[in-house]
Amino acid sequence: MRLKVLGAYGASDAEHNLTGYLIDDWFAVDAGTLTSKLSFAQQARIQAVFITHTHADHIRDLPHLIHNRFSQTAGPLTVFAAKDVMELLISNVFNGIIWPDFSTLISPLTNKPAVIYRALTPGKKVMFEGIGMTAVPVHHQIPAAGVIVEMNGQAITFTGDTGPTSEIWKRTNKTPGVVAVVTEASFPNDQQQLADDTAHLSPNTFGEELKKITVDAPVYASHRKIPYERDIESQIRNLRDRRARVLLEKNYTL
Ligand SMILES: [Zn+2]
Ligand SMILES: [Zn+2]
Repeated sequence: MRLKVLGAYGASDAEHNLTGYLIDDWFAVDAGTLTSKLSFAQQARIQAVFITHTHADHIRDLPHLIHNRFSQTAGPLTVFAAKDVMELLISNVFNGIIWPDFSTLISPLTNKPAVIYRALTPGKKVMFEGIGMTAVPVHHQIPAAGVIVEMNGQAITFTGDTGPTSEIWKRTNKTPGVVAVVTEASFPNDQQQLADDTAHLSPNTFGEELKKITVDAPVYASHRKIPYERDIESQIRNLRDRRARVLLEKNYTL
């Protein structure tokens, strides 16, 4: 499968983008960066987005992706999230105040709503257009769940933001065909306390998480904070685990 990394940082400036991934051009994970890096036509090809949690850096472009869908001939965009995450998204963002609830408005071009929300039960695999998707809770400041995406015999795990966690690793270890794991390392090792307090990882705790992962596939650190990206990169390299990599904003073929 093809993984297009539109945003691989936990902060943004002119050259670094917020979390947003696209698989085979039609399935997105997180929406920090989608519309801002995709043409109108590319956006119309996205059929579904999985949202790990409601922090602004993971949903920034979602209101605009939905809004644009309202004037496209593509069918509804399906937004997936774990049930508790979906409740927060609807009550805090698509609440008619921050943004309209486009699931209740019929698009004049398709006679269908622009968006459909699908809340997932954690741990239960659902199928959508031939791909399997399992939401698995992770440890963050607010309700958050990563996702294991299975497609054509290959699988990728995305944790989204997380501190030390376990359930998603157990599920990943049992999943056949894992070709990549995308997790995070937000802060450098000398900011471990901040990483712990905010339920994020540093390269040190990323290294501890690696020990829980038994699959032989690259494990990518995303969500680096911009000023520390070089420190984090060298600290990841110093783990001396050939699976450990930093995630770059580029296209991967897996
Ligand atoms: Zn984040
Ligand atoms: Zn977060």
